[in-house]
Amino acid sequence: MRNALALLALLPLRAQTVGIDSHIDTLQRVLIDNADIGQRSSRGHADLPRLREGGVNAPFFALWVPTYYKGSEAVRRTLDLRDAMQRVLDSHSDQIELALNASDIGRITRSGKIAAFLTVEGGHQIDDDLAVLRVYHRLGIRSMTLSHFRNNNWADSSTDKPVHNGLTDFGKQVVREMNRLGMIVDVSHVSDKTFYDALAVTTRPVIASHSSCRAISDVARNMTDDMIRALAKNGGVIGINFGEGFLNPKDAELLKSAVNSIAKEPALTGKALDDYAARQFRDEFEHPRRSFSTIDDAVAHIDHAVKLAGIDHVGIGSDFDGISAPPKGLEDISKMPALAAALRKKGYSEQDVRKIFGENTLRVIREVTGK
Ligand SMILES: [Zn+2]
Repeated sequence: MRNALALLALLPLRAQTVGIDSHIDTLQRVLIDNADIGQRSSRGHADLPRLREGGVNAPFFALWVPTYYKGSEAVRRTLDLRDAMQRVLDSHSDQIELALNASDIGRITRSGKIAAFLTVEGGHQIDDDLAVLRVYHRLGIRSMTLSHFRNNNWADSSTDKPVHNGLTDFGKQVVREMNRLGMIVDVSHVSDKTFYDALAVTTRPVIASHSSCRAISDVARNMTDDMIRALAKNGGVIGINFGEGFLNPKDAELLKSAVNSIAKEPALTGKALDDYAARQFRDEFEHPRRSFSTIDDAVAHIDHAVKLAGIDHVGIGSDFDGISAPPKGLEDISKMPALAAALRKKGYSEQDVRKIFGENTLRVIREVTGK
């Protein structure tokens, strides 16, 4: 019996199981380094073969634009990322397909392909214009983080000095318009007050696509116990982030200083700005930060969140390809079965693991997109 259980723990998630990771930054490598993610690579943390190996057949591809892209420059950069995503979809149509809702995810994953779910990371990317938000929706984008590392003109960020006391009236309009369109409101990166303001306005469940627990690792990007409980009450999901400072208290200090250094923003536009972004991105990856975090830290955060929110409100939002040093034992997305095995070993049932690894977030997608 013990042998049989040990064997079960080693099995990858079944092919027909939906595996969702609500935040990967792999598109940065496609846009900046022209990476072909159709091939398995030793660079970065995710590509199509490694997503399959990890059982993550429905990742959220983040269209992340740094906050030093201002106004229309942020819109241009978002379109560049959407175009990079289209190149992946067109050149590997046998492996990957765009998913607009939960039924698309079901159909695409059953066919053995990867379902790409698109999300914008940072409210500044709509350039204070609801029409831009609506066009993003038309381009197949189904989720948006209200802010990034800096405040924008209508939402305070968790890693900046508050100027709006949460969401402005326009910020509340953004949330309402996202509800109306069927786009998921993502509260990762927002300040605590912005989080509670968004919850007070939204009529649909929200997600914290890539945040962990502040009670374990005290950084502003993580959620307090009270926020996690409130998110569960809203019907939402917290996707546990694998970034070293998010998971391990010893790494938290390093994360705080890294966030502070983002303060200097260059006054550039066009190609000069894109070149600056490429240098920043490569620098980050060529000099990974020292890290103490391990797969056990990821298990501890999942377990803490489940105890607060219940099994139906916790998911995975690794931030792979956007984090400096992944945890030991979870070096890239192909290692996800090891996390499933660690949870089973802790007493989580097969059904519990399926919920955390995708079904919970799939439920939110269905409730928000209506399909
Ligand atoms: Zn992020």
